[in-house]
Amino acid sequence: MRKGLPVSPGVAVGTAYCIHEIFWNPRGKPISESEVDAEQERYERAVAKTSDDLEALHEKVASQVGQKEADIFRVHLAILHDPTFHAKVRDWIVSQRSTASAALHHVLNDFSSLFARTKDEYLKQRLADVRDVIERISGHLTSDPQPDQDQLQGPFVVIADELLPSHVVTLGNREVIGIVTQAGGQTSHAAILARGRGIPAVAGVRGILKQVSSGATIVVDGREGLVMVNPDSETESAYRKLQREFFHLKDHLAENHDQPAVTADGESVELLANINSLGDAQTATNMGASGVGLYRTEYLFLTHPDVPSEDEQYEAYRQIIDASPGNRVTLRTLDLGGDKTIPYLGHRARSQGGFEANPFLGWRSIRLSFEHPEFFMTQVRAVLRAAARHPREQKNVRLMFPMITTLEEMRRVRIMVRRAQKKLKEEGVPAGRVQLGLMLEVPAAAVSIESFLDIVDFVSIGSNDLVQYLMAADRDNPKVSHLCQPLAPAVLKVLSEVIRSCRQAGRPVTLCGEMAGSPKAFVMLFAMGLRSFSMSPAFIPSIKLLASHLTLHRARMIYRRAMRFDTTRQVRRFLAKQVHDICPSVELLDSV
Ligand code: PEP
Ligand code: MG
Repeated sequence: MRKGLPVSPGVAVGTAYCIHEIFWNPRGKPISESEVDAEQERYERAVAKTSDDLEALHEKVASQVGQKEADIFRVHLAILHDPTFHAKVRDWIVSQRSTASAALHHVLNDFSSLFARTKDEYLKQRLADVRDVIERISGHLTSDPQPDQDQLQGPFVVIADELLPSHVVTLGNREVIGIVTQAGGQTSHAAILARGRGIPAVAGVRGILKQVSSGATIVVDGREGLVMVNPDSETESAYRKLQREFFHLKDHLAENHDQPAVTADGESVELLANINSLGDAQTATNMGASGVGLYRTEYLFLTHPDVPSEDEQYEAYRQIIDASPGNRVTLRTLDLGGDKTIPYLGHRARSQGGFEANPFLGWRSIRLSFEHPEFFMTQVRAVLRAAARHPREQKNVRLMFPMITTLEEMRRVRIMVRRAQKKLKEEGVPAGRVQLGLMLEVPAAAVSIESFLDIVDFVSIGSNDLVQYLMAADRDNPKVSHLCQPLAPAVLKVLSEVIRSCRQAGRPVTLCGEMAGSPKAFVMLFAMGLRSFSMSPAFIPSIKLLASHLTLHRARMIYRRAMRFDTTRQVRRFLAKQVHDICPSVELLDSV
C-alpha cells in the first residue's frame, strides 16, 4: 500500500495503464559498432509505429470528440516527421554508439536548452509537444515491453509521472476510472481535470511507476490518498463494494439536477460550475449548475494547433455561452505560467534565459498578459463580441482577471477593456457590455480588498492559488503541498474577512477554488455569508444534497466552534464529524 495526496474523491478498482516517461528510464549503455545499423532500424520501426498511433488517434479523437481536439495530433505528426529531428537522433546513435532511447533522451535535452534560449514564444512552447512525441517513440522502443496496452482489458487506472494535457486528450476515449500520479498536488490541473470528470485520483505517489506494470490490479482510494497494487482478494472485494457505492451515489445524486439549491430553512445558494471545455458546459447543465462561474480559457489554447485567432476564439466563446446553463458564464482571461506551460504561449524565464526557479511566484497569469497585450486584447475583443450575442442578458457574461496583485493592475485591465470596446465600436462591430471582476488569489489583494471594491463589478475568490500563497507552499510540489490546506485557521480567517468586506460593500462574491465543492468547506463558507459557489460539475449534486439538510443556524454554530481550534487537523476532524451528522452519504465525495 502506498500513501499519496487525495486529490479527487471516490474509490476505484481497475487495471493499471502506465504512461512511462523516458526521463525516468533512458537506456544508457553504449552499443557495439556492429549493432549500430540494427539500432537505427529499430528506431525507424518505432517511428513508423508512432506515426500509425498518431494517425489512428487523430481519426478516433476527430470522430469521437471533435476536430479541434484532434488537431494536436496533427502537430505531433509534423514533429515526428521533421527531418531535422530524425537527423539528430540518427546522428547521435551513430556518432555516440548510443541506443535509440538514449539518443532520444539526448535530443530532448538538446531541444530543452535550445527552446529555453530562443525568444520565439511559439517555438518555445512546442517543447511540451516534442516531449510527448519522444515519449511515444520511446514507448515503442523499450526492450522490456509493457503488455500491449491496447490489448489490456479496462476499466483503467492511469499511472503517470504527471498527467500531461495531451494524455488527458488521449485518454478521453478510454474507460478511465482512477488516476495515480507521481507528481502534482491537490489543485494541480491534472487533479482538477480528474475531479471535473468525477474520477478518483491520488497524486504525489513517488516511485510508483517503478513498482507497477501495466495490467496489474490497482485500488485507488481518493478519500484517503491510498493506492494498493495487486491487493489480496479480501481487500479487493471490500474496495469493489465501496466502488459500487461510489458509482451508485454518483448516479443517484445526479438525479437532483432539476431541484433548486436551497437549505433546509429556505436560504438559496448559487451553485455554479468550473469548466474547461464545451463538453464541460454540457456536463454542468446535466449536473444541475445554474451557470458557469469559471471558464478556464487557456484550455482552448491547449487543444488548438496554434494561437487561436480572434474569430476562432469568438466562435468558441459563443458556443460556450450558448451551451452553458442559463447562458451565464464567467470567463477568465488566459492564466498561463505556474503549472500551465501550454504550447504557443506559457511561461518563459526572464532571467538568465533559463527556467524560472519559482514559476508560481513568477511570470504568470495577468503578468504575462500585460507583456503580451496583443494576445490579451485579441481575447478581450473575442469575449466582448461573443457577449454581444445575448444583448438582453448582458449581465450573464462576466470577465475576470487572474492573479491581480495591485490596484494599478486592476485599473489597467479596465482601461484595456474600455479601449477594446471603443475600437470595436469604431469598426462597427457589435460588442457586449460585460461585468469586470477581480480574481482574488494573491494575499496582497485580500488584505486590501476594500480598496478594490470601488473599481470591480464582482469578486471571485480563487482559493487554490490564494491558499498556496497564504501558506507559502507550492500546490504542485508533493513535498509541501500538504500545507496547502483550505481549512487551515489562517486561511479561514482571511476568507471570512474577504467575504464580509464584499457583502458590506454590496459586491457580488463567489468562490471558485476547488474547496467550494468540499462538504466540510461548504458549511464554513456558507456560515461566513457566502452564497455563490463555483466548483467542478461533479460536486454540484452532493453539495446540493448537503445544503438541503443544513440550516443557517446550524452552520453558524459549527463555524463558531470550528474557529476556536488552533490547528487544521482539529478543524478537519471536527467538520468531518459534523458533515457525517448532517448528511453521511456526501462523505464519500470529500477529499479536503
Ligand atoms: C484558483 O486559483 O482557485 C482557481 C480557480 O484558478 P486555477 O485553479 O485555474 O489556478
Ligand atoms: Mg488560480
